[in-house]
Amino acid sequence: MRGEGIYLFDGDGRRYVDACGGAAVSCLGHGDARVAAAIAEQVARLEYVHTGFFTTSEAEELAQLIAGLSPGALNHVWYTSSGSEAIEAALKLARQYHLERGDERRSRIIARRFSYHGNTLGALAAGGSTWRRAPYAPLLIDVALTDPCFAYRFAEPGETVEDYGRRAAESLEQELLRLGPETVMAFVAETVVGATAGAVPPAPGYLQRIREICDGYGVLLILDEVMCGSGRTGTFLACERDAVVPDIVTLGKGLGAGYQPIGAVVCTGEVYQAVAQGSGALKHGQTYNAHPVGCTAALAVQHIIQDEGLLGRVEAAGERLQSLLAGRFGDHRNIGDIRGRGLLLAIELVEDRATKAPFDAALRLHERAKAEAFARGLLIYPGGGTADGRSGDHILLAPPYNVTNNELEMIVDMLSDTLDAVLPS
Ligand code: PMP
Repeated sequence: MRGEGIYLFDGDGRRYVDACGGAAVSCLGHGDARVAAAIAEQVARLEYVHTGFFTTSEAEELAQLIAGLSPGALNHVWYTSSGSEAIEAALKLARQYHLERGDERRSRIIARRFSYHGNTLGALAAGGSTWRRAPYAPLLIDVALTDPCFAYRFAEPGETVEDYGRRAAESLEQELLRLGPETVMAFVAETVVGATAGAVPPAPGYLQRIREICDGYGVLLILDEVMCGSGRTGTFLACERDAVVPDIVTLGKGLGAGYQPIGAVVCTGEVYQAVAQGSGALKHGQTYNAHPVGCTAALAVQHIIQDEGLLGRVEAAGERLQSLLAGRFGDHRNIGDIRGRGLLLAIELVEDRATKAPFDAALRLHERAKAEAFARGLLIYPGGGTADGRSGDHILLAPPYNVTNNELEMIVDMLSDTLDAVLPS
């Protein structure tokens, strides 16, 4: 196989348009020779060193860059090799923060239904995806799951999105009071929900209210931006648009754009200092933390994004894709919602637009859409359970930040043909 820009070519030379970057990973497109050259140079010079002995200039420079791009006091970075590991490290950091401050009671986590934070056991426990959890339920730590902020599905008729956002945020306060706020260490949420509900941005004001509630009860706010961060929504962190600074944020996917597996946990000076001035180190670590090749790849990717002004391009291309989708599917009887932020967009399929009734889950429509698109040479990222955890189908699109207008038109044409072929007539 090989890749070039938005295209992948399989072993038989068949071409695929990668409209989703795998799982919202390939933000620069495939086959960027500049990133490949930086990686080759790094491997030849130093392939690996353990963080127990050395730091590297690549890891330090990338941390400076991430801290510089992140809002507020988010200025310390811990590297992992994946998004799930970033969540695991974030949860441990939150627990240790409270311990360092002598607050041993805080051990509970609140997360949300319709969310995804990864597949390792801790991250899976914090996720609200019903079908992903089911087989492993007996193995999962007890995380309290509260309401998502998902206006299309859960706002009452006639309720403004602002009122709905406030109501969705109040469910966190109710859950805190139910558990005993002094026992809760952190609230975890995706800023823009990715895989589970399909590109769902928070209602205006929702995250600000969440921030106030967390502050009021001494609970850390962890935003998971593994999918929606690293520029995917047009700002380095998606929460910049919501004017909210979390205590801890997780990154992955677009940070290394798929050129190397790398994730990161970014925390505020306050969280960092509690550990640094307390016991001195996070009681956690993995062999490949701050892997020099991963850091070099991410550094090359982030420099290209900066040098080419690609965050501005994300905003423009995102608006263009939204309007192409609205033009093509805005009146479609089986498309209930077109949503997202920047280049993280989704359409939700419904049997009936008026009632928002989903298709019968037995039809496995999202899987059929993926297979049909694949047969036509289009890669999309669909998901099921969108409406209630079991029924409901959405299709996620996450093209590269440098996608052209022609490519966007091609994606929407191919998606439209795909849906014509799979939707019941
Ligand atoms: N958090 C979010 C929001 C994600 O979308 C994902 C991956 N889909 C993860 C965490 C887990 O990342 P990884 O698959 O790299 O472990």
